[in-house]
Amino acid sequence: MKQKVEEQAHVPAFAFQLAKKCGAKTRRGTLCQGPATEKGRCRFHGGAKGSGAPKGNQNALKHGLYSHSLKNHLYESKKLLKFSLCSKGEI
Ligand SMILES: [Zn+2]
Repeated sequence: MKQKVEEQAHVPAFAFQLAKKCGAKTRRGTLCQGPATEKGRCRFHGGAKGSGAPKGNQNALKHGLYSHSLKNHLYESKKLLKFSLCSKGEI
């Protein structure tokens, strides 16, 4: 009788049990066992390859204060200012 119970435990009862597993690392350190979607992760774990906004998406841009281009521009300006002050001998 006990053997029958063990045999039944290995037979998947639902379709999601046959589906590909998500495999994302959980907070417990184990792999997520949720059924994966088309992109490879479950409904809780995103970040699969090919997901997210396309490159150069400006939908969330408000002022650009933290944008890469402004940071690079300020960095170059500071460098130029420092170079000009050094060449005059003020620093
Ligand atoms: Zn998952």
